[in-house]
Order: sequence, then C-alpha cells, then structure tokens
Amino acid sequence: HLGMANSRYEYVKCFEVEDEVMYPNIIVVQIDGRDFGCFSEKHGFEKPNDDKALNLMNACAIKVLENFSDVIFAYGFNDEYSFVLKKETTFYQRRASKILSIIVSFFSSTYVIKWKEFFSRKELTVPPSFHSRVISCASMEVLQAYLLWRQTECHISNQYNTCLWRLVFSGKSEKEAKEILKGTQKQEQNELLFQQFGINYKDLPQIFRQGSCAVKIKVDDTVKYREDGTPVKRPRKKAVIVHSENVATKRFWNNYTCLTE
Ligand code: ATP
Ligand code: ATP
Ligand code: MG
Ligand code: MG
Ligand code: MG
Repeated sequence: HLGMANSRYEYVKCFEVEDEVMYPNIIVVQIDGRDFGCFSEKHGFEKPNDDKALNLMNACAIKVLENFSDVIFAYGFNDEYSFVLKKETTFYQRRASKILSIIVSFFSSTYVIKWKEFFSRKELTVPPSFHSRVISCASMEVLQAYLLWRQTECHISNQYNTCLWRLVFSGKSEKEAKEILKGTQKQEQNELLFQQFGINYKDLPQIFRQGSCAVKIKVDDTVKYREDGTPVKRPRKKAVIVHSENVATKRFWNNYTCLTE
C-alpha cells in the first residue's frame, strides 16, 4: 500500500524550515529584477528611465493586486516592487517562503506574458528573474518607514541617474560623468541639470521621480440595465496606479481605504 510505504519517509517533513510571520506583524514582499542592469541593456531600455519597462512593471503589480486579495498595496520603481499584505492575512498560514515564492513567480510569469503588450517590436530574449525577500513590519510606523526608505532610494537614484545620463548624452564617458558626480548632493545635482541642460528636475514625470503605487479603489460596475433604462450597478474593487510625492504620509493613506481598513 502506497500510503503505508510512504509514511516511512515522512519524518523528513519535520525538517522543513518553519517561517511563519507572526501576527500582528505586517508582511511585505519585496522583489527586484535579477541582473537587470544587463537585462535592460540586452533589451535596449532607454536610459535612465524606459517608460515602457516601468509601465510593464506597473501592469504586473496590478495583476498581483487583482489576483491576491490579501495584497492591499504595492510600491515600486526601477526594477523593484514591494507588496504589502493586510495585517490579518492568513494566506498560506503566513508562511514567508510560500507567500514569497507565489508572488515572485506570479510576477515573473506575468512579466513574460505581458512583455509584448509593451514591447511589441522587441523580442524577449533573456528569461527575466527576480529575487525577493520578506520584511516583517512590527507596526504601521515601521511599514511607513520602510516605504519612505524605498521612495527615498527612488528619488536619490533617479536624480543621480538623470545627471549621469545627461552628461553621457552630452559626450562625456560614463567614467568621466561618474567622476563629475562624485560626492555631489541633491542641491548640486539640481543646479547641474538646470545650468548645463536647462532641466528643472521637478518637471520630470512623476513616475520617474516618485515611483508608482498600486492601490485598490472602489468602482461601480454597470451589470445590466433595468427596463426603464437605468443602470444596475455593483461595487467592485479595482487596482490602479497612482503617484504620490510621499507614500508614507497620513494624507496619502487616508485617501485609500484599502490601506487602513
Ligand atoms: P541585482 O541582481 O543585484 O538586482 P541589477 O543589475 O538588477 O542587479 P539594480 O540595483 O536592481 O541592479 O538596478 C537595476 C538596473 O536595471 C538599473 O541600474 C538600470 O540600469 C536597469 N533598469 C531597470 N529598470 C529600468 C528602466 N525602466 N529603464 C532603464 N533601466 C532600467
Ligand atoms: P497547491 O497550490 O496546494 O500546490 P495543487 O492543486 O497544485 O495545489 P498539488 O498537490 O500540488 O495541488 O497537485 C497538483 C495537481 O496538478 C495534481 O493533483 C494534478 O491534478 C495536476 N497536475 C500537475 N501536473 C500534472 C500533469 N503532468 N498531468 C496531469 N495533471 C497534473
Ligand atoms: Mg535588480
Ligand atoms: Mg533594483
Ligand atoms: Mg501544487
């Protein structure tokens, strides 16, 4: 009998790593494109920001929110995205490795499926992969600090890369451009962009400077029409992309009930 024979080896099951994230910690899954410096070069991404690639990442994040009801919010920029699960989630008994592997593999395969929607004339030649980790946030304050940390990283790296690539486009080598930017701060970088290239950093698109948030909003769907022609509506949750200067403020969070309810 198969069951009996198999139980002899079943003891190995207890060697499985236990990784339940205890309530009331908030589970955040962060994913990041593996070796996307190379991936972006092989697929000719525009520098410093390819907006098709960013929109593809955003479309995948929306799919994650649509597919997993316990994922309530996501923040991303460049090749990374962070997914926030609702505090009370019991998804896969809150096991980090299960949740992590499901979200990251779902994201990767969605990226492949959606590629041609965004790059209709470019063939996907390298299989994209993402590395990921779980951050266990002990409180709402820690979660907000986490998000602020990622958004600050978005801001700093985008400003630096904008300067770097402008210098390169103007004829400097990458090495020379990096030398020029060494040790410069926000203020100096703003001035360099304005004085040398006539660029007001604040005028660059929000998606570059602030990153993107995927949130769930309530919308009314028309399901049918009554005999008198009036629509019958049913409320539904829809995932959309929004931008915000500061994703960790109460003002932003209060706009989206999905974050606080
Ligand atoms: P790792 O495996 O350690 O994550 P990586 O090469 O992906 O290596 P990151 O620090 O994650 O390193 O940086 C991602 C890189 O991918 C960026 O430096 C940038 O060159 C490129 N990249 C990602 N998204 C875009 C985009 N939308 N437009 C242009 N370049 C991008
Ligand atoms: P879970 O998310 O818990 O893994 P599951 O539906 O994937 O749920 P499994 O115990 O992993 O549950 O079983 C995988 C199921 O997928 C099988 O029961 C079978 O029905 C189906 N399946 C997988 N591979 C094949 C295959 N090669 N041919 C036919 N059916 C398959
Ligand atoms: Mg990366
Ligand atoms: Mg990255
Ligand atoms: Mg299975």
